[in-house]
Amino acid sequence: MPVSLYVHVPFCYSRCSYCDFYSNAINKEDLMMEASKWLFAIKQHQAALSGRFMNQGYGTIYIGGGSPSFLPKDILKDAIVWAARLAEPTNKQNMEFTMEANPEDIDSGLLDMLAEHGVNRLSVGVQSLENKARSLAGRKGTAKDTIKKLECISRNWPFLWSVDFIAGLPGQSIDGLKNDISRVLDYGAGHISLYALTLDPDSPMAAAAASGLYGLADSDAQSEYLEAAYEILAKNGLIRYEVSNWARPRQESMHNMVYWTYGDWHGLGPSAVSNINMENGCPIRISNALGNDYYKNPATSASETSLDKKDAAFEFLMMALRTKRGLVFYEFVERYKIPASEVFGSLEKQFPDLLHADELALKPTDRGLDLLNVILLKAMENADSYYGKAG
Ligand code: SF4
Repeated sequence: MPVSLYVHVPFCYSRCSYCDFYSNAINKEDLMMEASKWLFAIKQHQAALSGRFMNQGYGTIYIGGGSPSFLPKDILKDAIVWAARLAEPTNKQNMEFTMEANPEDIDSGLLDMLAEHGVNRLSVGVQSLENKARSLAGRKGTAKDTIKKLECISRNWPFLWSVDFIAGLPGQSIDGLKNDISRVLDYGAGHISLYALTLDPDSPMAAAAASGLYGLADSDAQSEYLEAAYEILAKNGLIRYEVSNWARPRQESMHNMVYWTYGDWHGLGPSAVSNINMENGCPIRISNALGNDYYKNPATSASETSLDKKDAAFEFLMMALRTKRGLVFYEFVERYKIPASEVFGSLEKQFPDLLHADELALKPTDRGLDLLNVILLKAMENADSYYGKAG
């Protein structure tokens, strides 16, 4: 399988109150200088990773962040043109090349430039089209502004596009979330990522809620948001193929499938992570440094760990069970030279409502996708006792 490429852009116009991604709010004057350092460093880093791991090109590319669309136009174009040339030679025509974009940055000029230089999938961060929710979340632009940008994508973007929503934001209503999803599907989005709000305790939103400024949805309320959204998504023909991801047929994210099938990827940019599988099925995990440490020495400032068999096998299961595809038995045996059932026990017998097994794979039911943690706790216990026994 070819390696994938993730490029992290660590800049945002401002910080959203719920966000825990690594990115810095930066003004336009400083952005040019910082973005130039970033561009230089990612190119250097990519060459170093490809040299070390003898990479011949990438099977999918994803530019995320942060806010890639906030980069100065010349730097963004340079990064896109450069990245597109890194496609695996036999896959150049078909390579999935995704870029995240914030609605406020989108115009027909940007869309034309991206399409012309190889980007063929957009991932658009909307989160909510309700003004109260947008403002408490610190999202830039009103609902009306954002809708105009979605119309612009609908008119001008010739390829696939995906929209991110959050369920359970303060100020968001269940009807609002349903209407928002219907609207973007009407505009032609073929893929929806729908995340239940989860907050780092240090985030501004968690602090505001703790000080009594507003309440947060508890887990029952969040389930109501999610279930209402699921109904709309299913009614419109989208399939839940991963815990938080829905797609029309053949519009699944191939790049994200690489993570969930425990493939190889190179991560460029501060805070990004690379995963390189070794012959024994255990990956080397490389975590990039932050800020100037990364810009000065992108490859050597990274920290590196080699996963042992137990952690690798468990992560493989954990990622596989996030998807409807499930854990494919022969893939597990090929990597770890042992059937998954010997390591984890017969999980489908322990959780008949949450999992089912056929001759090919162990797959989560819809309920299983929602209660993955229960399965994983048991799987970890079973793996501990298996690898404990095996020494
Ligand atoms: S724009 Fe995206 S990456 Fe930036 S702060 Fe908001 S949620 Fe986080």
